[in-house]
Amino acid sequence: MKITMLGTGAALPDPDRAQSAILLTLDNGRNYLFDCGEGATRQMVRANIDPASVGFVFLTHLHHDHICDYPYFVISSWMLNKTGAPLVLGPKGTKHFVDHLFGQGAYHADFQARSAYPARQQNLEAAQPEVREVSPGVVYEDGHVKISVDWVEHIPRDICECFGVRVEAEGKVIAFSGDTAPCEAMVRLAQGADLLIHECTFPESFIAHRAKSGVGTYSHTSPTDLGKIASRARAKSLVATHFGHFDSTSPVLKRAAAKHLPVELMGPHLMDEIVVDIRKHYTGPLRLAHDLMRIDL
Ligand SMILES: [Zn+2]
Repeated sequence: MKITMLGTGAALPDPDRAQSAILLTLDNGRNYLFDCGEGATRQMVRANIDPASVGFVFLTHLHHDHICDYPYFVISSWMLNKTGAPLVLGPKGTKHFVDHLFGQGAYHADFQARSAYPARQQNLEAAQPEVREVSPGVVYEDGHVKISVDWVEHIPRDICECFGVRVEAEGKVIAFSGDTAPCEAMVRLAQGADLLIHECTFPESFIAHRAKSGVGTYSHTSPTDLGKIASRARAKSLVATHFGHFDSTSPVLKRAAAKHLPVELMGPHLMDEIVVDIRKHYTGPLRLAHDLMRIDL
């Protein structure tokens, strides 16, 4: 199987990273998309993957950096001659999100206009997603993959459930954290995984700065804690992702980040700090994700 890291950034617009999106492609050609942040669809095309061939989407939670490309993905797939209704799984609230996009929702006028073309009428179902809101446990099995999820700790659950994911396919296990503070659920989901893809939003120095300056709740995983989780899960390899712009050299991002990050410390050199801190507890194969990174398992 092949994993393509379509987007490896976080919430702010980043010239070097799309937002969270990971594509799993099995050897039989089946595609499974996990999260659909900004850029996901365009990145598929860059990676030579037809969005119309992606029939399965799992949304770990409803933060915009994990879902905002979804309408673009659905409409593009329809225009690229997808057949069949797209399937989307996610937490409670996913149906509300999707219902407000399609049908009588935000893209109603677009749908009305485009569906006037005979070519678009051949596959109208492609613009009508089937939504399944899921609970912890096995959420999907199709004879090729088995997908289990559990709650992780990111947003208060009464606002939005956040899921971590364990995927079993072709005799291998891949775990994906979504966004989360360090949590036991992720250690369980990643137990013995061939590949753990885990968020690592800020380096330790930025976390310390945020704590000192009193900027909001911190609900992500630090590099040091990530090393502990990967080690406790006995993950056979680790990819850190969902980087919170700390490595950016963009003047726009630096101005925007000034309220909550130590801007004078920003830059690509911080990736070295991340690795040193993960390595305090995890000695297995480690890679830092970048957009369009390809992993063969
Ligand atoms: Zn996020």
